[in-house]
Amino acid sequence: MSGQNDTAPSAERVDDLLGGPAVLLIGDEWVDAESGATFPTTNPATEETLAEVAEAGDADVERAVGTARKAFEAASWRDTSPADRAVLLRRFAELIARDADDLARLETLDSGMTLPTAEAMIAGAIETVLHFAGAAHTIHGVTPQSGGDAFNYSLRDPVGVVASIVPWNAPITNAVWKLSPALAAGNTVILKPAELTPLTALRLGRLVLEAGFPPGVVNVLPGMGEGAGSALAAHPGVDKVSFTGSTEVGKLILAVSGSTLKHVSLELGGKTPNIVFADANLEAALPVAVAAFTSLSGQICTAGSRLFVQRAIHDEFAARLSAAVGSLTVGDPTAAGTDVGPLISAGQRDRVAAYLATGKEAGATASAGGAVIEGRGFFVEPTVFTGVENSMRIAREEIFGPVVSVIPFDDEEEAVRLANETDYGLAAALWTRDLGRAHRLARRLEAGTVWVNKWGSLDPTMPFGGYKQSGLGREFGLDWYQAYTENKAVYIAV
Ligand code: NAD
Repeated sequence: MSGQNDTAPSAERVDDLLGGPAVLLIGDEWVDAESGATFPTTNPATEETLAEVAEAGDADVERAVGTARKAFEAASWRDTSPADRAVLLRRFAELIARDADDLARLETLDSGMTLPTAEAMIAGAIETVLHFAGAAHTIHGVTPQSGGDAFNYSLRDPVGVVASIVPWNAPITNAVWKLSPALAAGNTVILKPAELTPLTALRLGRLVLEAGFPPGVVNVLPGMGEGAGSALAAHPGVDKVSFTGSTEVGKLILAVSGSTLKHVSLELGGKTPNIVFADANLEAALPVAVAAFTSLSGQICTAGSRLFVQRAIHDEFAARLSAAVGSLTVGDPTAAGTDVGPLISAGQRDRVAAYLATGKEAGATASAGGAVIEGRGFFVEPTVFTGVENSMRIAREEIFGPVVSVIPFDDEEEAVRLANETDYGLAAALWTRDLGRAHRLARRLEAGTVWVNKWGSLDPTMPFGGYKQSGLGREFGLDWYQAYTENKAVYIAV
């Protein structure tokens, strides 16, 4: 494996991919932070600085909130119909498709995800934007039958100014998941990308303007969490915070935004159980079990990081899994044939390294991997831990790296108990040929999403969100607009 990236781009090439300087988008202006502050963003495969990015602070948040409010109240946006917004979203999708190659390259450089992964995410992002272009028409109130001198109905108003605060693991996907429903419902948005991956959000900002959204409907504020992020969460002019990130920060945001009673949606961490029964199609389950904890180097909120295997097949399945994981190619995410790229940062690599040590100290065995890869770039070996107890920290805490804990179970009852024995509840996967068992477990697993004989697929027609400490509220689904609208009652005297 090589952590070296010989094809690293020059700074000028990054400027080209960005389409302009790495500064803030407020209204239709690209501006430096008022304080003049900047921060570097780094290629995690090479550790080289890709760009110096303007760092939004309190004054910029103030200005962006004012701009987003003005845009929300302006007739040019307030009076748009769902059809008008659908046209804008469709144009936005076309522009993402036009610039897909540049966006994919930029995403790979900034986040370390492999190029094919970035390309797949952009294809998914286009589908999501198009979905919400169509879904704009589905927003509706209700007209209950009323009698006598009454005529009552309900209206769905946009919430107002939405602050969308997103993590670094899937920057374009997260940005588009926030922008599309918020805009389809007629809100204005301030998007705060993660400080570790600000670049593609800036490029998306350019495409939003090119698509013809009125100035100020979308603003992009790169900055720190305890900076632009916390200022947005506290600002009385922000009507809703839609947050995706860690459970720890989600709790902080809920506390801060409570002071002004904002609407809040929280999409948080997870510790997804992936349960393999002896009667499953093991040829299908095995490669997916690998992908479930190594895609994006395990930096996925729904990563299948706890693998429960029925005892009769446990030893053989664990051995085959370890062999498959041991043969993965780890390295340059821009190179063809790379399976696993770097982690996002030195901090994340050290955090994962600490979990590798914790696992070994607790008595688990690294049947594949188990070490940091020395050299340039933030790489660790994809790791399979066997001999894991569900009570060990590696089985309880979100590692956010390519590490899986394999745990045996005897029967359905034990599988459910172990799978639910967690503070998280974002997703769960199970593999079986027994239809009745699949449905029984789908009911009993405490998770917002359950996959049967698959892992990882998401569809915007389905609700997405977490049980327990994996989140608050749901995004997507057929009633998606509930998260982005107020529900107003209208009483008419007749
Ligand atoms: P994080 O919570 O550290 O940061 C997420 C975002 O919040 C960043 O933009 C950050 O700048 C901002 N932030 C940090 N502190 C803040 C504060 N005090 N106030 C306001 N904003 C603040 O998360 P991360 O490390 O970027 O991402 C990894 C986490 O995200 C994992 O826990 C993962 O499970 C979760 N995640 C969840 C989903 C989901 O849909 N449920 C999807 C992807 C990632």
